[in-house]
Amino acid sequence: MANSGQKVVLITGCSSGIGLRIAVTLARDEKKRYHVIATMRDLKKKDKLVEAAGDTYGKTLMLLPLDVCSDESVKQCINNVKDRHIDILINNAGVGLLGPVESISIEEMKRVFETNFFGVVRMIKEVMPDMKKRRSGHIVVMSSVMGLQGVVFNDVYTASKFAMEGFCESMAVQLMKFNIRLSMIEPGPVHTEFETKMMEDVAKMEYPGVDADTVRYFKDVYLPSSIDIFEAMGQTPEDIAKCTKKVIE
Ligand code: NDP
Repeated sequence: MANSGQKVVLITGCSSGIGLRIAVTLARDEKKRYHVIATMRDLKKKDKLVEAAGDTYGKTLMLLPLDVCSDESVKQCINNVKDRHIDILINNAGVGLLGPVESISIEEMKRVFETNFFGVVRMIKEVMPDMKKRRSGHIVVMSSVMGLQGVVFNDVYTASKFAMEGFCESMAVQLMKFNIRLSMIEPGPVHTEFETKMMEDVAKMEYPGVDADTVRYFKDVYLPSSIDIFEAMGQTPEDIAKCTKKVIE
């Protein structure tokens, strides 16, 4: 349970990557300012987080299950937080989708929106009433540089982040009068499983109905140059966690 004076921070998508690192960084805060509720959709994946959290696990860091795509899971998770009181919500969970639009089904596209857009909307709707009542709170959203600029072959992922940016920009104005802050973080490439998962998906991809020039450009030009960009510019999850900590301080 949080000590008085500690801020309750709930983070989505903490099984790996940026979410895991934000959870650990905040739980290890030298002044113990945060009581971290690290959530993940499958608690069987908790080992990496628990190991990284070390002796903060069970003290400044606790775990709860949460699937941002499920109304029921979101409600249950927030109901499990004492008095439903969350000072800082960090919407980190997200999925990528890479490839020519012709090779991606509408179902796959909906899954991206369900997670990256509606997942955030669901969380905000659930925490907002308590934050409004207390007239305080901070909502942080992990967007992407692709929430600011379209990137070829990332059409649907980019669209999901643009949608979220638009939603949050509008919400920020409404929340301001309740003293609730809404911040967006827009990282460039970060070395996480995100990149690995996307490359695995691409390896399995088939291209029926996609013209040969597009397939060749995607496989022979776009993919190698993306890998080069990741190599040259990729940040670490620690970099993004430090930035997130600054944003909430
Ligand atoms: P990871 O794939 O390492 O982490 C994504 C996390 O989201 C995982 O914990 C995953 O859980 C979780 N997640 C996915 N779907 C759901 C769901 N329905 N409910 C709850 N959790 C879910 O990637 P990153 O750490 O890189 O990504 C984190 C965020 O950063 C994303 O929003 C992404 O868009 C953003 N971002 C990433 C960049 C990058 O280059 N890596 C660049 C810019 C932004 P599970 O293990 O169960 O799949």
